[in-house]
Amino acid sequence: MSAGIDNESLEVVLGSLRDFAKQHFPPELLLDYDARDAMPVELVREMCGPELGIQLLFVPEEFGGMGGGAFDIYRCCEEMARVDVGVATGLLATFLGSDPIRVGGTPEQRARWLGRIADEGILMAYGATEPEAGSDLAALKTTATPVLEDGRVVAYRLNGRKQWISNGGEAEVATILANAPGGPSWFVIEAGTEGFAHERPEDKHGIRLSNTAALTLDDAQVPVDQLVGAVEGQGLQQALAVFGFTRLMVAAFGVGAGWAALDRAIAYSTERVQAGAPLSEKQAYTHKLIVPHAVRLEVGRAYIEETAAALDALDTPEGAYITEGAIAKYLATEAGNAAAEASIQALGGYGYTREYMVEKIKRDVRITTIYEGTSEIMEMSVGRDRWQLHLKTRGEHYRELAATLDRLQAEHPSCGAGTAALASRALAEVFERARVGRLTRSQHVLFRLGELAAHAEGAASLCRRAAAAAAGGLPEKADRRFAPEALAAMARIAAREAALAVADGGLRWIAGSSGAAAADGDGLPAALGLPHLHEAQRGLMEDMDAVADALYERSSSSVGGT
Ligand SMILES: Cc1cc2nc3c(=O)[nH]c(=O)nc-3n(C[C@H](O)[C@H](O)[C@H](O)COP(=O)(O)OP(=O)(O)OC[C@H]3O[C@@H](n4cnc5c(N)ncnc54)[C@H](O)[C@@H]3O)c2cc1C
Repeated sequence: MSAGIDNESLEVVLGSLRDFAKQHFPPELLLDYDARDAMPVELVREMCGPELGIQLLFVPEEFGGMGGGAFDIYRCCEEMARVDVGVATGLLATFLGSDPIRVGGTPEQRARWLGRIADEGILMAYGATEPEAGSDLAALKTTATPVLEDGRVVAYRLNGRKQWISNGGEAEVATILANAPGGPSWFVIEAGTEGFAHERPEDKHGIRLSNTAALTLDDAQVPVDQLVGAVEGQGLQQALAVFGFTRLMVAAFGVGAGWAALDRAIAYSTERVQAGAPLSEKQAYTHKLIVPHAVRLEVGRAYIEETAAALDALDTPEGAYITEGAIAKYLATEAGNAAAEASIQALGGYGYTREYMVEKIKRDVRITTIYEGTSEIMEMSVGRDRWQLHLKTRGEHYRELAATLDRLQAEHPSCGAGTAALASRALAEVFERARVGRLTRSQHVLFRLGELAAHAEGAASLCRRAAAAAAGGLPEKADRRFAPEALAAMARIAAREAALAVADGGLRWIAGSSGAAAADGDGLPAALGLPHLHEAQRGLMEDMDAVADALYERSSSSVGGT
């Protein structure tokens, strides 16, 4: 992955994508495909054709692509998901399918297959999941048996079944993870290969504009030069190596779909009059159904942007920032899901009908907390990694983050960093109590630590983003929807929420665990800094008013009606 394309080119790509969507994906057409449970295959192919060529962003320059970086890809994924998460999934599948080749392929394999994506716009599929191997990919059962000629391996025969494969029924080429004698390995297989077939598309809850199908491999033979990387046993490392940015892509889907729903609710609420005034002027409406979701989506965005920038700064990003990718995915997809759910409520009975789209968006965005690793697997990954960091730094990791945030607060007193520092210190205390009480032997506690860490880090990230915006220091390619003052108000709200979540969760899981006595449950509230956290809630309502004003583009708060 390179540092990507220049900002001007990115804006051109995003503009073209918007124009294409406006022209080819009007809401009526999306609803029609959704009702028919059909993938608009020709349109997805057209997106990879000469007019738009969106796939080029994902392909390195040396193979005829544009060589987009993680930041470019996030912006593009958000834009695609705003249109339709199913269509976006069809495009993502090609990127995922080619990932093992991009990361682990020989130069010839990369030139051949990535070149075909760039030149021909082929669709690809990524065949990892199996009926009995989902979150635990290592349990895979598909086999790759070497075919020998004169004592030399000339091919592999693949046998097994892959489940829930996006583009499974449409892709020209798939990558398949299978157990070779040397261990799990990726193989490239072309549609039409004897013994390689797909089943009928799944009847899904959402993303009905994407094709999801099981793949069957019955003595399907692939030539030896289609073993990715030409060495057996690299498959799981190759799959892991790209998680940092494939999870960012799905995170961007969460932000895009969440905003697609919330923006509809915002627009609706300015028109819909109840009890004598538009709903947008009802504080209990905006402060429950709109504002908190806007804040959480922007927390997700802040974390995505920081992680994307960090990936783009590396010469070899493969294998880097996997935990950060998990945090971004967790925060952004959970926020997207909740925002879409709230948007149905915000439209009342209309939201519950298909016509107003939020019902479809809610069904679509739901997948983002499941594929590319479920939210629980994200919690596990974050919990484990941050637990290791806590032990390795002898409890200093989150204290150091708190000290950095305190310094930021001193420089930018309005960006909420002081409260985010309280959250971080409370988190350090929770981790330490968990260590003393040996509480992470409970799987649930470990996962909850992952959740709390994600919230604290997400809030800290938005505080840094708000401070950067105030100082005119956002990355060139950053989203600029909100003015620095609005971002600062959002950051303060997020920091307060994270601080309370950490304290509340910490109290709950430490006091609620059998090791609580060892963890000194009695002194816990004070050690977590609870009085300070409560004090930090001061100003919350004014900030929520300010965010509502920013979302509704009004100069000062006029809300409060009944
Ligand atoms: C529409 C769709 C498209 C998809 N596209 C693709 C694709 O293109 N390619 C591909 O390879 N796969 C694809 N998938 C598969 C997807 O990545 C998996 O469904 C996902 O990883 C979860 O695996 P699973 O369904 O087997 O659930 P499981 O792993 O069985 O999980 C079931 C539940 O248990 C929880 N859980 C799992 N393990 C643990 C644990 N150790 N501790 C606690 N809780 C746990 C999970 O969080 C989840 O809530 C797709 C799935 C869908 C639905």
